[in-house]
Amino acid sequence: MLVLKNARLIPELTEGYTETTADVVVEGSQIADIRPAGSVSAEAAEVIDLNGKTLMPGLIEGHLHLDLCGKNTFEENVEPDSYRIMRCLKLAQDNLKKGYTTIRDVGDRNNITIGLAKAVNEGMVTGPDILTSGVILSPTEMGNDFFGTMYAECDSPAEFTKAVRRQYQLGADWIKIMGTGAVMNPGGEPGMPIIYEEELQAACRAADYVGLPVAVHCHGTEAIKMCIRCGVRTVEHSSIMDEECIEMYTKTDWSFPMPTLSPMVNFLEFPEDKPKHYVEKAKRMVETLLQGASWYKKNHIKIGWATDAGVYTGSHGNGIYEFRIRVNMAGFTPLETLLQATKNNAEILMIDDKVGTVKVGKRANLAIFDGNPDEDIEALEKVHMVIKAGEIVKL
Ligand SMILES: [Zn+2]
Repeated sequence: MLVLKNARLIPELTEGYTETTADVVVEGSQIADIRPAGSVSAEAAEVIDLNGKTLMPGLIEGHLHLDLCGKNTFEENVEPDSYRIMRCLKLAQDNLKKGYTTIRDVGDRNNITIGLAKAVNEGMVTGPDILTSGVILSPTEMGNDFFGTMYAECDSPAEFTKAVRRQYQLGADWIKIMGTGAVMNPGGEPGMPIIYEEELQAACRAADYVGLPVAVHCHGTEAIKMCIRCGVRTVEHSSIMDEECIEMYTKTDWSFPMPTLSPMVNFLEFPEDKPKHYVEKAKRMVETLLQGASWYKKNHIKIGWATDAGVYTGSHGNGIYEFRIRVNMAGFTPLETLLQATKNNAEILMIDDKVGTVKVGKRANLAIFDGNPDEDIEALEKVHMVIKAGEIVKL
């Protein structure tokens, strides 16, 4: 038993307890009790006095790529799987150390993160809880080869059905599909749909049949609408929208936007070490992304939180970059962004029965910070302690 005494709680991120200070009791992998501060006397237990530090549910990263680290992708493509798996573990741990106790990987080469997730689950290695899609299913498209074996190309409803079943067979948690061109693929046009609606429908049907949710890479307006019509759970990036997209988001209780603002802002801020085609496309996208964020806020649309970590050097565990953009450029309050990265993400990723808030009975995935990140987002840089499944993370 572990007792975390005198914790400062954020009421919006806590369930079943309304005070702002508490003693939090952890037993095994779960939160066993939340009591008024100073009321738990547990001599047999390990007791840690937090002295008013902020205790939050562990952060949930909604979209990253452990198998990308911002290097020249042609170099990455020829590194052996065995080497890249070790690096994936290291990058997963970089995320965990910063308080990200759950991460969702939406695209690797050769499905290597499926095995990593299994090894973490079994306790063989230390890492955050990992949900993963393995490889990305994509229509044959300009620039797919840029990422080596990251894409499984499918060009008919039957091929999508087969590929979904294959990912299910391998143990994927999600199905990731390319709906529009990618910013990072040379020749790819971010706004243009590349998938036929009947292909996406077939993929969603096959995924639903085996109980897997679908995430679609989707920058453009028409493809966003197609995703919502087909029952896609998370619309990744969801960049270029019109009023009808916003209206469709307000009406559905199934599909949610998973914006990632970091890459485009980073490509513009540090253009010197990026391929030219990244920077060209980013110029067109940043304004659009910020406009989209303001529409979500104005229309009270529940959105996820994600960074697309992997696309630039040093992005793993650098979630503060995304938080800063959302607070300083997109107009969200620090508390709104914390909600996006915990409670919202847990609901959107359908893991809110286990994580996402501090609640008795939930998994003890916790992050503790010096200072008050709900008032000053910079406090997220001051990580005091991370607890994953009831264990204090020591890395
Ligand atoms: Zn991505």
